[in-house]
Amino acid sequence: MGLSTAWQLSQWGHQVALFDPRLNQPSETGIPSSRGNGTSASLGVLMGHVFRRSSGRGWRLRQRSMALWPKWIAELQRFEPALSLNRSLIQIAEDASAFERMRKLASDRSHLGIQAIPPGDIETIWPTAQFGALRSKNDGRINPVLLQKALRLALASSSVELVPEPVDALTRKNPGWQLNGSGGHRSVHDAVVICAALASPALIEPLGHSRPISPVLGQALALQCADGPSNWQGWPSVLVDQGFNLIPNGPKRLLLGATVEPGDSAAHSPLELMRSLNDRAPTWLKDAEPIEQWSGLRARPVDRPAPLLEALEPGLILASGHYRNGVLLAPATAEWIANGFANDANGF
Ligand SMILES: Cc1cc2nc3c(=O)[nH]c(=O)nc-3n(C[C@H](O)[C@H](O)[C@H](O)COP(=O)(O)OP(=O)(O)OC[C@H]3O[C@@H](n4cnc5c(N)ncnc54)[C@H](O)[C@@H]3O)c2cc1C
Repeated sequence: MGLSTAWQLSQWGHQVALFDPRLNQPSETGIPSSRGNGTSASLGVLMGHVFRRSSGRGWRLRQRSMALWPKWIAELQRFEPALSLNRSLIQIAEDASAFERMRKLASDRSHLGIQAIPPGDIETIWPTAQFGALRSKNDGRINPVLLQKALRLALASSSVELVPEPVDALTRKNPGWQLNGSGGHRSVHDAVVICAALASPALIEPLGHSRPISPVLGQALALQCADGPSNWQGWPSVLVDQGFNLIPNGPKRLLLGATVEPGDSAAHSPLELMRSLNDRAPTWLKDAEPIEQWSGLRARPVDRPAPLLEALEPGLILASGHYRNGVLLAPATAEWIANGFANDANGF
């Protein structure tokens, strides 16, 4: 969120400084094993059009992000040509009533590329889909590691000042805000945008703002499949069954993600999760060999809807708590912030 917001603001002509201790670390490549932030642990699935509601802020942000992503990717490919928007997502219906809801959604959203698939049409790729599925032509996936790499390269060629230190304290200056970095950096800015995920509440509490955020563990696996589809012919970029995301990732390779219980440690074996899929996993998946596993923390706002996007007071903007959809919502979030400054919106 910080990288994309800094990139957006600098493109709109603002003088920007980005503070993050992770700027010191080399950009990860491939599948990182040490996933220091939420974004690196993420699978990068974009479920914008299949969102169940069709009004409210969540829907508007999703629609805006899905409209912006193709432009963002086209621009960021200049910095990282391997970055791509891998479109197409299939969601498996868990029962007959779920398929009925999918049919209704498909008839309301055919203009967005949503289509209901009868069971017979999906059984070649997912034989346990007895009730049918929903296909979204324009949802899909972005590799979050490549995305961060592209944004870092874009920032390196921009005028954004990169400060590889955590911010320890924020102080009101009238006018402006003073930032104290843990490495001794001190500077005053007209406005501050806080995108520190789980670390955000501690930065705003001393200023009298309480926005608690709780960690929700997410786990993921990279698998090598001995049997099963070798080239993923007919597969979408993402297949979702009972909340598990399956992502083809090269010949006989698959990424598998799942959300687990609240807390901050991996309580269950991801292997068990993978093998269960509530008994709907095909044999080739049950037998697949894990080649990597990792977990990360999702930042979920307490008693408020995700994300926390608000001007807490003039020049103090919070953009955190994106929970399950921070990759999806990055462009819409960055644009919301840039628009707020451009229009001198309330609180900016
Ligand atoms: C396993 C897993 C799977 C996920 N799958 C998806 C998915 O498929 N699709 C999707 O859209 N989302 C997904 N998410 C959610 C998504 O990853 C997050 O919503 C998103 O990455 C949040 O981005 P962020 O920038 O707010 O947080 P982060 O990526 O965690 O970044 C926060 C940054 O703040 C920095 N920071 C912390 N404290 C300070 C400080 N004091 N000063 C300066 N900097 C500081 C940190 O170094 C860090 O770089 C997933 C999450 C997990 C864990």
